[in-house]
Amino acid sequence: MSSLDDMASAKLEALESRKLRRRLIETDRRAGAYVDRNGRTLVSFCCNDYLNMGHDPRVIAAAKAALDVSGATSGASRLVTGNHSLFGELEKRLARLKQTDDCVIFGSGYLANIGIIPTLMHPGDLILADALSHACLLAGTDLSGAKAFRFRHNDLDHLTELLETHRGTARHCLIVTDGVFSMDGDMAPVNAMADMANVHDAWLMTDDAHGIGVIGGGRGSSFLQDEKADVALQMGTLSKAIGSYGGYLCASQPVIDLIRTRARTLIYSTGLPPASVAASLAALDIIEAEPDYAALPVQKAQRFTRALNLPLAESPIVPLVLGAPDAALAASQFLEDEGFLVTAIRPPTVPEGTARLRFTFTAQHADADIDRLADLVRTHVLRKVAAQ
Ligand SMILES: *Cc1c(COP(=O)(O)O)cnc(C)c1O
Repeated sequence: MSSLDDMASAKLEALESRKLRRRLIETDRRAGAYVDRNGRTLVSFCCNDYLNMGHDPRVIAAAKAALDVSGATSGASRLVTGNHSLFGELEKRLARLKQTDDCVIFGSGYLANIGIIPTLMHPGDLILADALSHACLLAGTDLSGAKAFRFRHNDLDHLTELLETHRGTARHCLIVTDGVFSMDGDMAPVNAMADMANVHDAWLMTDDAHGIGVIGGGRGSSFLQDEKADVALQMGTLSKAIGSYGGYLCASQPVIDLIRTRARTLIYSTGLPPASVAASLAALDIIEAEPDYAALPVQKAQRFTRALNLPLAESPIVPLVLGAPDAALAASQFLEDEGFLVTAIRPPTVPEGTARLRFTFTAQHADADIDRLADLVRTHVLRKVAAQ
């Protein structure tokens, strides 16, 4: 074997021994909350397509129409010839939804964050990130070369302390956080953070991957109170409740213009397929026209947390922390045997010692399935946790 293969095999064995090796499993999603895996149809409680837009006939029809007219690819970077007219339309729609001057779309949410942050922040600047921020916010932070600290999750006192200690020595300061936390389902205190950012001349950036479409009347985590929170940089993805693919940033005109001209992941990466952009537009039409439907995922999650006496869900995401990776894997396997797909989430996606089941709820989950799942969790998973 070559030294390359030796290295890869040794790393895999080490991961295997800690129950941290991951494997791809073929899974075909169907309409509603169903997936086909290993020859069985399961009810999935781990898709991020919260509004089941990915299979909505109106979304599919819009994507097909764009596919027929414009083909399967945009053919180049948006700055060369890949800027199909649908991009501008979607950017206008998102800017309107988020009440900002303008918006720019990227190939994905991950690409957005690793493009945006290094465009704005450089050595000599300061980035303060919530400790549970999504991996791509932290990757963008690393790429920027700015000095970076993590504050304890949602801990405004710790954030204040870091601002008071380090803000003075830095040229610019960016505060980054998930709006809705991807693995915990709780919310950042964005209004208080925006005030704090203003006091310290810092810029607040929220990653609202799990907020758009389902929180704040579909507008996301900046819209939980009557007035829009003063968040300078509202980033998010089209790959979750919007049911399509792509990432975006909504912000002021000069910021968006700078990102369009300097963000490496926009410049050096091919534009989204026009069909994906058309799908996003169709999904936004539905979300804006049907607010009661868009509110369903959180209501379904609350039905589950009520049944189990867990803290009331604030978003469609409900974590159940079990601790060790093998406990999470065993619970996930048990539920799969019972017909429910709930993937175990392990480090490094979540901190050491907090492996968990992460349940996500969609508009089209049947109440009877939620109730049966809650029963199984109560009688087989929680009981084991309590017995430990
Ligand atoms: C999923 C996710 C992303 C990445 O978005 P993609 O469009 O899937 O690349 C970014 N941030 C958060 C918080 C996410 O949950």
